[in-house]
Amino acid sequence: MVADDKPASTFKYSEKPVYTTSNGCPVENPEEYQRVGQNGPLLLQDFHLIDLLAHFDRERIPERVVHAKGAGAYGEFEVTHDISDITEIDMLSNVGKKTSAIARFSTVGGEKGSPDTARDPRGFSVKFYTEEGNWDWVYNNTPVFFLRDPTKFPLFIHTQKRNPQTNLKDATMFWDYLSTHQESIHQVMHLFSDRGTPYSYRHMNGYSGNTHKWTKPDGTFNYVQVHLKTDQGNKTFTNEEAGKMAAENPDWNTQDLFDSIQNKEYPSWTVCVQVLSPEQAEKFRWNIFDLTKVWPQKDVPLRPFGKLTLNKNVENYFAEIEQVAFSPSHLVPGVEPSADPVLQSRLFSYPDTHRHRLGVNYQQIPVNAPLRAFNPYHRDGAMAVNGNYGANPNYPSSYRSMTYKPVKASQQHEKWAGAAVSYLFEVTPEDFVQAKALWDVLGRTPGQQDNFISNVAGHLGAAKKDTRERTYEMFSNVDKELGASIKKATESDAPAPTSQAAGQAESRQFPQTV
Ligand code: NDP
Repeated sequence: MVADDKPASTFKYSEKPVYTTSNGCPVENPEEYQRVGQNGPLLLQDFHLIDLLAHFDRERIPERVVHAKGAGAYGEFEVTHDISDITEIDMLSNVGKKTSAIARFSTVGGEKGSPDTARDPRGFSVKFYTEEGNWDWVYNNTPVFFLRDPTKFPLFIHTQKRNPQTNLKDATMFWDYLSTHQESIHQVMHLFSDRGTPYSYRHMNGYSGNTHKWTKPDGTFNYVQVHLKTDQGNKTFTNEEAGKMAAENPDWNTQDLFDSIQNKEYPSWTVCVQVLSPEQAEKFRWNIFDLTKVWPQKDVPLRPFGKLTLNKNVENYFAEIEQVAFSPSHLVPGVEPSADPVLQSRLFSYPDTHRHRLGVNYQQIPVNAPLRAFNPYHRDGAMAVNGNYGANPNYPSSYRSMTYKPVKASQQHEKWAGAAVSYLFEVTPEDFVQAKALWDVLGRTPGQQDNFISNVAGHLGAAKKDTRERTYEMFSNVDKELGASIKKATESDAPAPTSQAAGQAESRQFPQTV
């Protein structure tokens, strides 16, 4: 508490708080400092100056290793359709039921200061403050991802980051990885379509990608995938427009989201679910735990059930967006993770990141705090700021009664047995089928296939020759003509190779927009 007996953050602009040091001691002039005479050295006793400098020195926390650049806002979710036949999730229990939420959108590979319009998947995360705990949707704007083996995640991400020697983005690293891990092809098709450069965060869809389980009161469950369809319509930049915007206003998407909410043009998404019973899943053509595959909508139709609307900007970016901590493991009764191996690894990795970036008590930060939580066995640790459960015993004590709410678990549904094995999915011709389906989807809109070819060519031209050749073969596996067209466009476009660094004789700088 500071002057006037108020928490520091609650002072309004209209009020005139007394300026103090961090321990609340009034300071007459924040620009003055103590020294010996007019020209002598500083005094160590000057707590105001040391307080100021020492705090400034510690202003930065580690940026997220992925999804570092982002923007977000508060909003609400409303149930629009009865889906009580397929779920017992409290938040979805009644038509008209509303739940507060915060969303954060982001690019994936770039650093915190990188341009919003980079060609990259977009993170699409929402935290719902439900009556039964915080439920996080940690989604992307593409329904698939580059990989389905969790070990590959750090390896793949490294190839989208900077070359360890040159510290430059490196097209050879990028395409070398993709062309030698061709299960990525479906996501590559998404990334190099114009949806790889969305016009704004408001004009893109969100997809769970990973498969989850929704349980039912009768003890059974279904596998589900969730889709958020933009009500603003899908709108994209061309490669050229995205590059231009990156130079003119690298924070364009951040600004667009803030301004639209400030102007009361509240963005919204229609939320739908795809549902497969365990029996259907077993007979399904596609492995439902394979993150590189969609569930075709003609086979598994979208069922609408809600609307997400963003209607309030944050007061403080760092407190509410930089510190918001989403995790696929933040679940509520009625929803469970599936055996999707990438999801399973994410269950570990996200809270691990938060403990590293924000500390062990990251759930106590106001933006992350659930409506109510009671776990007195979580004690102490850095920044225990919620009262640390006061005098409550820190073990299951016979002197302290607690209510234990029965939660139905569906663990009995799946019985896993087998030898412990080292596993890796193999790449097969099946991996190109949905990539080809997307190529055909692009063909429905005039110009989309041409843009795709030039988007790839503009980027691939900067890679080494043998990597380029391998990449043409990869695209030929989708469609023979596509491979040939990309080759033609890339080789005629490709500027003469330059040597950027030792060992990178034909590698050129990664284009700005990727
Ligand atoms: P459908 O024809 O039923 O669905 C096509 C989907 O593609 C629609 O959801 C549409 O989204 C989306 N789409 C349209 N244009 C583009 C584009 N330029 N880039 C990316 N997505 C686009 O087909 P299927 O369900 O059989 O899927 C065919 C292909 O469509 C898949 O291989 C997949 O890559 C892609 N797709 C499929 C999704 C799924 O979950 N089944 C989701 C998104 C894409 P919208 O309605 O918003 O325009």
